[in-house]
Amino acid sequence: MAVAPPDPTLIDKVVIANRILYDQGVVDGLGHVSARHNSDPSQFLLSCNRAPGLVRHADVLCYDLDGNTVSPTTERSYLERFIHGEIYRARPDVMAVVHSHSPSVIPFGATGNRLRPIFHMAGFLGSGSTTFDIRDGFGDTDLLIRNNELGKALAQSLGNYSCVLMRGHGSTVVGNSVEQAVYRAIYAEVNAKLQVQALGLGQVTYLTPKEADLAAAANDSQIGRSWDLWRRRVGPIDAA
Ligand code: MN
Repeated sequence: MAVAPPDPTLIDKVVIANRILYDQGVVDGLGHVSARHNSDPSQFLLSCNRAPGLVRHADVLCYDLDGNTVSPTTERSYLERFIHGEIYRARPDVMAVVHSHSPSVIPFGATGNRLRPIFHMAGFLGSGSTTFDIRDGFGDTDLLIRNNELGKALAQSLGNYSCVLMRGHGSTVVGNSVEQAVYRAIYAEVNAKLQVQALGLGQVTYLTPKEADLAAAANDSQIGRSWDLWRRRVGPIDAA
């Protein structure tokens, strides 16, 4: 198979996305972010098995949708790379994926509650998040998406949503760009915190699906402003 090299600026963007997600408290030593290959939709870019805050340009590898590295490498891969490949396979519109264990979201998956958009910044949640319970199809497991079969089941639960909660584990968000997926991962966490606070006060009025769509469209035109700020905070990265 001919290897089409990815755009070096896309590799850099994946590196920056890793650093931003760590700086913003979405990922810790675990969690990952990928981008679909800019010229070959059957490949995606994902770091080797490295903590997101430490990812460098040379760590970003190309994978096929089955989760195999396209170029030979001696580096270990993330155990849960199948999350990314199976979502890219199921969702041609998706150009970037973030998987995390961001803490405020966990109680929602554990209780079967949906994240719902409590403010305009989370309009991408639309009618809410969806939930994947690995136990439904696979019994007792270590909760990790360790193979393509589990990845397919997760992608099926995601459906056309932007955010899938993974019961007892974490969550995964998708976007049409690296910037949008990072934005969504950050604001899924913020929305979760605010939703719990509001539920403690009383009945919550969420955005309607129409309000959510309108807000999401407005936000999408402003993501670059937030990205520039987040990007500044993480400092220089090693260049291509
Ligand atoms: Mn995980």
